[in-house]
Amino acid sequence: METQKQFKRRFSFEFFPPKTDQGKEKLQGVRDKLAAVNPDFFSVTFGAGGSTRDRTIDTVLSLHEQGISTAPHLSCVGGTRESIAELLDLYKENGINRIVALRGDLPSGMGSAGELRYANELVSFIREHSGDTFNIEVAAYPEFHPQARTAEEDLKNFARKIEAGANSAITQYFFNADSYFYFIDRLETMGITIPVVPGIMPIVNYSSLVRFSDMCGAEIPRWIRKQLDAYGDDSESIRKFGEEMITRMCEKLLEAGAPGLHFYTLNQANASLNIWNNLGLANRDKIAF
Ligand code: FAD
Repeated sequence: METQKQFKRRFSFEFFPPKTDQGKEKLQGVRDKLAAVNPDFFSVTFGAGGSTRDRTIDTVLSLHEQGISTAPHLSCVGGTRESIAELLDLYKENGINRIVALRGDLPSGMGSAGELRYANELVSFIREHSGDTFNIEVAAYPEFHPQARTAEEDLKNFARKIEAGANSAITQYFFNADSYFYFIDRLETMGITIPVVPGIMPIVNYSSLVRFSDMCGAEIPRWIRKQLDAYGDDSESIRKFGEEMITRMCEKLLEAGAPGLHFYTLNQANASLNIWNNLGLANRDKIAF
């Protein structure tokens, strides 16, 4: 973990673009609560194949204009160089300086893979088209990407994204800090020294967490599943347990030198904010982790 300690810590919140006017209104309230703690940036997801293209643009520009720097996610699967270049130009014109560059996953039956097959090709294209305009973030998988044939290949594929010009990474969420520590150790032995910021998923709704974790390859350890099972539909106990467990994991990560945290908010303020407050991040320049 030594290399991670040299980086300035940054804290960010991720949203998805709302579909309805009601969703937009709700996000505005969430935005206001989270902007008040002065994060380093917000980010907004992008539906693979461009399914949320216009909504992602609207959400990014609206958040950015309101004063917190905002990073669009951009996935290449199903897209063309031309459509990606258009987006890059639009973001540049609007003063956006950070992009989360991803491959994405096309829903089954939805078109072909497109012109850029993997995230490393997208990173190369962004550098080719936009030079150093953007700070490029890529995805990292401490528990390895579900489609990777082997752990070693996944690490090599991660290295390709850095060689292509990515500046830093945000991880898939995990509930086992050791997977992150081991991942960083492996990167260090490969000579990769970029900030790798843990992605943090607050536990709010157990059944959707299980469904999503199975899909994206994030393991919910047995002791956590058992505990959450025992709460049944007692959502208040699930919330309390989740908050305490995630706070402890974040403390461990920051104490070991993680260069910040990125919260998957699911467009809800309180779950992330409670963890933030438990960690004392309001005074983050003064705390000793
Ligand atoms: P890649 O880095 O391209 O890797 C995908 C798989 O291909 C891996 O198994 C890798 O090992 C393998 N691979 C890579 N290069 C090669 C190669 N040259 N040859 C053979 N195999 C290769 N999805 C969305 O649709 N929208 C979002 O907004 C979004 N935001 C995300 C944010 C974060 C922080 C994270 C961690 C994930 C996000 N995702 C999002 C999910 C992501 O798109 C999926 O996990 C997707 O399956 C992989 O994207 P990637 O960028 O990691 O792909």
